[in-house]
This record gives sequence, structure tokens and C-alpha cells, in this order.
Amino acid sequence: KAKELGRNTFQFYTEALTHAAIHRLSLETRLRRAVQNDEFVLHYQPQVRISDGRVVGVEALLRWQDPDIGLVFPDEFIPVAEETGLITRIGEWVLQTACRQMQEWLSNGHGPDTVAVNLSPRQIQLNDTPALVDGILQSTGLAGRHLDLEITETALMEQGPDAARILHDLKALGVRISIDDFGTGYSSLAYLQRFPVDELKIDQSFVQKIPDTSGAAEIAATIIAMGRSLGLTVVAEGVETDAQLEFLRNHNCGVYQGYLASRPVPALVLQQWLTVRTDSAIGDPTG
Ligand code: C2E
Ligand code: MG
Ligand code: MG
Ligand code: MG
Repeated sequence: KAKELGRNTFQFYTEALTHAAIHRLSLETRLRRAVQNDEFVLHYQPQVRISDGRVVGVEALLRWQDPDIGLVFPDEFIPVAEETGLITRIGEWVLQTACRQMQEWLSNGHGPDTVAVNLSPRQIQLNDTPALVDGILQSTGLAGRHLDLEITETALMEQGPDAARILHDLKALGVRISIDDFGTGYSSLAYLQRFPVDELKIDQSFVQKIPDTSGAAEIAATIIAMGRSLGLTVVAEGVETDAQLEFLRNHNCGVYQGYLASRPVPALVLQQWLTVRTDSAIGDPTG
């Protein structure tokens, strides 16, 4: 009886493992095909200055348009792209596409001031990332000040001394550096001073609990105050309600991003959204 049970358990685990392995394998195969067949798209989410409602930036967010499955979100494939090294080529495509789009918006005169691109931990380990960014800025003609590079706090903390050098090399290109998901890692003030940082993005887990009694709102308020005292732009992520925006305004947070303003949308939709917003603001001093 015990033997039988043991065999069943064994069988159960093998099957589960096999399913996981098959899933992982097919994801990897499909991801390789996606890179070859150009199955990626960028959606853009506005970043709105709280004081006057101006769209100061947009964040480029990667989606995979799988011909069989439809739209796949980054949390489902970025980890595998990281493990397999495919992230290098995907990351290069993201940078190239976002910079080209930003340059186009600038020449049309109706766009934001900056485009933000997420860099994976792997990309900030690579010594040739600054050269890659430099090459893309050259080929697209985009000035570095229009590009924001987002690096998560956790990724930065795990890199050690190399990250500081790469960030300084990137900074030398005139780009802006943002710390993403801030508040979830364990960085110190000393770290923030050592890195050439321009912007902190408060992690949405804090923002979404506003207003609350659990302390998340206090953490958000503290990050805003700290960022301001260091002269950094502070962006609140994941803002969904008027109450959250009101709290951020009362605490002098600079910029917000979230469904309350807009979900991430294709470039053309964002462009239309910006046009309507600008036109309707004519004659409205607060618009
Ligand atoms: P992130 O950089 O922190 O991006 C913010 C995420 O929050 C996005 O999810 C965005 O769609 C979502 N979001 C924005 N506003 C709201 C809101 O009001 N409510 C809620 N619930 N969510 C909101 P998304 O697009 O699924 O991206 C997830 C993560 O994947 C990103 O987090 C980023 O770490 C990573 N990622 C996205 N694009 C890229 C990329 O091109 N390269 C790399 N390496 N990572 C990327
Ligand atoms: Mg920005
Ligand atoms: Mg981000
Ligand atoms: Mg984030």
C-alpha cells in the first residue's frame, strides 16, 4: 500500500515536472520565433505632471503579439527571455523602436518630452549597453535627454560596483536614469547619492493602498519627501483613483502614471489621446 502510494506520488511529481518543462520549452521555442518574426509591439503609457496636467513623458511597455495566443504580457515572458539570453536582442529592439518613435513625435511637435525604456538586470550587467544606447541615439538622431532608462531598485542593488560604472557611462550620453519599483528593495540614501539618478518611481504596491491605515501611504509620503530633498523627480506608479491623486498632490509628488490617466496603448492611440487632450485644453488655463 505504502509502495503504491509512493509510486503514485512519484508519478504525480514527474508529470508535473514534465508539464512545466514542456511549457518552458514551448515558450522558449515560441519566443525565439517571435524574435525572428518581429512579433513584438510597444504600448505607451502617459506620465502626467501633477501641478499642471502636462504629459511630460511616456513609458514604453513591451507586448508580444503571438499569432496563436494573442497579446502576451511581459511578466509572462521576460523571465524566460532573461534566462535564455534572448533579452539582449529583444531589449535592443525595444530601445531602437522607442527612440525612433520618440524622434518621430518630436518632429511632429505633438508628443511628450521623454520616452522611458525598461532595462532588464541582464542589460545593466553588460559592458556594451552604453555603446548600444549611444549607437541607437546616433542612428535615430534622438538627443539623450529625451530618453529615460528605468532600472529596478532590486536589479541595481544586486549588481554591485559594475552597475555604478555602467550607469555613469550611460549618464555620459545625456540620458536620464530612473529607479523603478522604488521602495521594494533595500537601497540606502548613500547608494542613491553614489548613482547618477534623476528619478524615483514609487512602487505601485504602496500607491494602490492609498488612502490606508497600513503604513503604505506613509512610505509613499516618505519617498516623495526624500526624493524631493535629493532634487529628484518623483513619479507615482499605478494611480487608479482620484483619492490617490489627491494624496499625491497634497504631498507634492511631481508626476503620476496609472489607469486614472490612461492604460498603456499603441503609439497611434496615444497620439490621438494627446491631440484631443491638448485641443480641449485650449482656453483652459488649468489644462
Ligand atoms: P513596470 O516597469 O513597473 O511597469 C508598470 C506596470 O504597471 C505595467 O505592467 C503597467 O501596464 C502597469 N500599470 C500601469 N498603470 C497601472 C495601474 O493604474 N494599475 C495597475 N494595476 N497596473 C498599472 P506591464 O506592462 O504588464 O509590465 C510589467 C513589467 O514588465 C514592467 O513593470 C517591467 O518591469 C517589465 N517590462 C515591460 N516592458 C519591458 C521591456 O521592454 N523590457 C524589460 N526588460 N522589461 C519590461
Ligand atoms: Mg520620466
Ligand atoms: Mg518601468
Ligand atoms: Mg514599476
